Amino acid sequence: MDRQYDVIIVGCGVAGCFGALHLPSDRHILMITKSEIEESDSFLAQGGICVLKDENDYDAFFEDTMKAGHYENRKESVDMMISSSRSVIDELIAYGVDFEMKDGELVYTREGAHSTNRILYHEDITGQEITSTLLEQVKKLDNVELLDHTEMLDLLCEENRCDGILLRTKDGEIRPVFASHILLATGGIGGIYDNSTNFPHLTGDALALALRHDIKVENLNYVQIHPTTYYSEKKERRFLVSESVRGEGATLLDKDGNRFANELLPRDLLTKEILKQMDKDHTKHVWLNMMAIKDLDIKKRFPHIVEHCLENGVDPTKEYIPVVPAQHYFMGGIYVDLNSHTSMNHLYAAGETCCNGVHGRNRLASNSLLESLVFARNAATHMLESDQVRAWEGRSPKFLPYVDLSLDEIAAKYKIDLDWLADDAARVEAYKDLVWDEIDREEQEGNSKS
Ligand SMILES: Cc1cc2nc3c(=O)[nH]c(=O)nc-3n(C[C@H](O)[C@H](O)[C@H](O)COP(=O)(O)OP(=O)(O)OC[C@H]3O[C@@H](n4cnc5c(N)ncnc54)[C@H](O)[C@@H]3O)c2cc1C
Repeated sequence: MDRQYDVIIVGCGVAGCFGALHLPSDRHILMITKSEIEESDSFLAQGGICVLKDENDYDAFFEDTMKAGHYENRKESVDMMISSSRSVIDELIAYGVDFEMKDGELVYTREGAHSTNRILYHEDITGQEITSTLLEQVKKLDNVELLDHTEMLDLLCEENRCDGILLRTKDGEIRPVFASHILLATGGIGGIYDNSTNFPHLTGDALALALRHDIKVENLNYVQIHPTTYYSEKKERRFLVSESVRGEGATLLDKDGNRFANELLPRDLLTKEILKQMDKDHTKHVWLNMMAIKDLDIKKRFPHIVEHCLENGVDPTKEYIPVVPAQHYFMGGIYVDLNSHTSMNHLYAAGETCCNGVHGRNRLASNSLLESLVFARNAATHMLESDQVRAWEGRSPKFLPYVDLSLDEIAAKYKIDLDWLADDAARVEAYKDLVWDEIDREEQEGNSKS
């Protein structure tokens, strides 16, 4: 690992990978991930990825996104996502992503709160298909150094300017690394919850750092609970039973086997209905009936969901599945503009860790992979544009006089307490508390406004 790069990308889910793929080969890039390279939520996405299938669908796609978001979405961001969707999908296909096709045409499916079929998919492992393809491409790039088990601990910033990050290597060494631009693509916050569909190491680290360094954040109390995750007594990551299962016709049943809700309600409203029913029935879950799906072989369409049920002793072709709501997605995050630029100079954020306003108060199903890709690409484009400005300013970190200082000197310069950082358990708890406190504060503020 070097001391300085042109770009540092923290996270190697779809946002991190797509960002890296849109930077030219003469840029020296460091890409890190806290865990195994394949352990990102991007690998877990089941349902699919939205796309503007033809121009006639623009208004309906826009309206569905806005309606699901309770019209709190930033309209210019929604427009950016929808207008860019076709070119993103074309790029994915060119990289080799294998979307479901029939007679040479892409097949579109539908999920809750979509007024039409506009979602592309690969079996029920769309995220794995997309992310593994992108990672393969990234690994081919000589200019990208991709390091696993390497954790960002803090930002090196002063005077509202980010110069780099402090990280811990696989060997446990704490090192400062500098770059012209830093892209935070650290994913969601499920790891701070007891019940979540997310990987537990996704604890909103970038968000905690944003709060610590006065970087603007937005809508931290906008947390999406997924209505249907597989109910289990075990303490483990909750397995998602995708919305597209209901989109294809599965029904929700109460303890007596009666339907109690419109299964295609937006996630937040359906979650409320399920929790209300569980409360009324004094149960820990409700039932999902996949046998109600007609004209489809569920073993072929949802092979991994069926397999998970079977592993847990439930055969969805003959029995109801127990399902319960769990934390799933984070609409809020580090505030960014259309270029994915944060309020701090030279610092970008893309993917689930940021808030570009696409999702408003509630995300429409299958919009997040698309949003992550579109805005990661925007970040890369903007870095290149602003590079010219930076070169003109003579501010490339290559000219920073302090890059070669010792760790202690750098820590002193950026006012970082190395002893505190070294106590990992305390730091992790402190970062989680920072995020929780802000979620609670915004929640209370929101409640008092309504
Ligand atoms: C079960 C499930 C199903 C889903 N289904 C869909 C779907 O069908 N369609 C859809 O559009 N969306 C879906 N989503 C949401 C979507 O998958 C995510 O929003 C999206 O993949 C986020 O991508 P990302 O690149 O922002 O983050 P991630 O893919 O989560 O990547 C985060 C990366 O940051 C790294 N990281 C975190 N903190 C640090 C740190 N301190 N230092 C270094 N590295 C760090 C992680 O190790 C990881 O590499 C689903 C999510 C889940 C959990």
